[in-house]
Amino acid sequence: MAIDRFGRNIHYLRISLTDHCNLRCLYCMPEDMTFRPNADLMQDDEILLFTRMFASLGFDKIRLTGGEPTVRANIVDIVRGISSTEGIRSVSMTTNGVLLKKLAQPLADAGLQRVNISIDTLNTEKFKRLTRWGKLPDVWEGILAAEKAGLVPVKLNAVIVKGYNEEDVLDLAALTIEHPWQMRFIEMMPFAGATDIQVNHVITMKQIQDNIESEFGKLEVANDGKMDGEAQVFHIRGAKGDLGFISSVTQPFCSACTRARLTADGKLRLCLLREKEVDLLTPLRAGATMDDLRRLILDGVWGKPWGHGLADGIIPLNRVMSEIGG
Ligand code: SAM
Ligand code: SF4
Repeated sequence: MAIDRFGRNIHYLRISLTDHCNLRCLYCMPEDMTFRPNADLMQDDEILLFTRMFASLGFDKIRLTGGEPTVRANIVDIVRGISSTEGIRSVSMTTNGVLLKKLAQPLADAGLQRVNISIDTLNTEKFKRLTRWGKLPDVWEGILAAEKAGLVPVKLNAVIVKGYNEEDVLDLAALTIEHPWQMRFIEMMPFAGATDIQVNHVITMKQIQDNIESEFGKLEVANDGKMDGEAQVFHIRGAKGDLGFISSVTQPFCSACTRARLTADGKLRLCLLREKEVDLLTPLRAGATMDDLRRLILDGVWGKPWGHGLADGIIPLNRVMSEIGG
């Protein structure tokens, strides 16, 4: 079992399969982003070996992310390999949904259980502006394909950016009235190069919730008031789905954190918003034994930071979001 020095049992691993992406969301990466060469990324067999190793240390929950995980070659085989690893009981994915129309069913057949799909607005022009060239209908078809393939409950993610989509939270929230989906609103976080967008266009979760309640009335507490992962969950009275609020900046949930991240270049990242990392891929390629690697993981987890330092102005500068795996 992997325990940190604060007694938290870390058993949830987010694996970034690639830093590459087929979109360029304004809040995530620059338009002229340079991606790592494929040789620097974990190869398929290395991903599966690390999965087995983490599973042997009690990790039982995997989320595949990126960059955009669906642009990774052999994604269906990778999912099949991970989902059939002994000890892994949950495999999910965070995706922009662009390729899901084609991939949802093969991924479900390979053992993927759920998806979170990013959709920041229902307005095609605004969607294009936020993603720099994305086509909203592709994502919408991806959502429907995911639901049809049984990747449920479908969860949708929206990062809210002042001046871009703060009014769109109403349309997005309204989706849950007729659909049994969870619409999750995410506070924008600052990363390397903390861009003007990330610093000056932040909307707090309280502002988002107030806006939604002014339209739909007081929200009802859902999920018996318990967090669903990192989200506080509510619903609009009579709605089929839920609303999730992820307030990583204004109300961090660090005390309940059970996760670690494996970056696409094979570094164990202990906190999304702290620079501390432990290189696993270089030792693996240099011939480290499985016991050496397990020790590196356990020591890394032990030293997991308590939480982020955004309130003290500490921003992680060594990577942008897409390189870490959101
Ligand atoms: N490409 C996939 C996607 O967009 O869903 C997976 C990777 S993306 C980095 C994971 C999540 O991080 C997405 O929901 C995205 O909206 C969110 N994200 C990206 N940059 C962010 C930022 N600066 N602050 C908060 N969330 C961010
Ligand atoms: Fe790509 Fe996801 Fe980042 Fe958007 S949020 S640029 S889809 S990795």
